[in-house]
Amino acid sequence: MKRLPRYSFGIGDRFAREGLNQLNALVAAEERFKVRFAPVWNKSNREHTIIGTEPKSTREEADAAVRRAGYEGEYFCDADHITLANVDRFIPYCDFFTLDVAEEIGSSGSREERYSGAIAKAGELYRHIVEARGGDDFATEISMDEVDEAQTPEDIRYILTRIAEEGIPVQTFAPKFTGRFNKGVDYVGDLAKFEREFEEDILALRWAVKELSLPDTLKLSVHSGSDKFSIYPVMGRILERHSQGIHIKTAGTTWLEEIVGLAASGGDSLALAKRIYACALERREELSAPYATVIDIDEGALPSAQEVETWNAERFARTLRHDEGDPMYNPSFRQLMHVSFKIAAEMGGKFTDALERNSAAIGAEIRANICDRHIARLFGAS
Ligand SMILES: [Zn+2]
Repeated sequence: MKRLPRYSFGIGDRFAREGLNQLNALVAAEERFKVRFAPVWNKSNREHTIIGTEPKSTREEADAAVRRAGYEGEYFCDADHITLANVDRFIPYCDFFTLDVAEEIGSSGSREERYSGAIAKAGELYRHIVEARGGDDFATEISMDEVDEAQTPEDIRYILTRIAEEGIPVQTFAPKFTGRFNKGVDYVGDLAKFEREFEEDILALRWAVKELSLPDTLKLSVHSGSDKFSIYPVMGRILERHSQGIHIKTAGTTWLEEIVGLAASGGDSLALAKRIYACALERREELSAPYATVIDIDEGALPSAQEVETWNAERFARTLRHDEGDPMYNPSFRQLMHVSFKIAAEMGGKFTDALERNSAAIGAEIRANICDRHIARLFGAS
């Protein structure tokens, strides 16, 4: 088992261009808060398939970023949301595996009927990876976040009991939390209820470490962690109360920081950002469809392409940047852009060249996003 440190942060980006900028943001956070978040580059099978990339490219991005930064801490590559059907292409390149058994969870019946089969599948998948790698030199996460119903603390105790029986050295567990985790915007739900559940989940994990001899590094993993600003101070408080760590997954919204950085740079880059928006507006049905359950776009709040054409760099950047205190910020605009990375992928080199040319401006946005808007809130500093 490769041990996970107390704090770890899932990064990664659609086009594999921001590894160094993201690593620099975590280093900036370490300097500011004296807490090291181990970088974990994650990219799901679904995302690789949509963009047309291979897991090898994530490993290369991570290694290159670490080399260029002269970073000496531990880092990981996460095969995110994998199943037996698609794990093989990740095995040589990853040292963190997120076993996704959400599909196998039964929708009714007793706890055993709902969860036992899913955990048996996780055991099968874990042993397959050990055999293929010739050892257990990796970290294991089990994820159940992509389901409709949140698991109760009693469910989690049962699930962890089954995980221990299967002999899986789980170090991060991603439950489905109460409330809505929409893409690219803040958490929507009952914060007091979230706080109670989060604390009870942590207590269930502590119980499992003690009573079931699961690894003492076991911690919660929060998926779709990007932009859920209001839960960060809550999580930070509880983690401190129980002296616990956490794994936070973000990644998808790095692409939005790329667009903010391009827009803020003006000139051709702003024109490119405007073109992507115009296409996104035209193709909004097609682009939104795969994300129907995790976005909430108010069509009436979307500006026309003609209007956006008249915007200057500042106007575009402020409309997109997630700053709730800014009257120009438009969450519908932001969510539509979030699902529109396919358009940039279709642009190919034209888009990625612009990313390279404007890497410094994009890096400033990524740093402000990861360090000042996310990690700072966990430590009550924002
Ligand atoms: Zn997830």
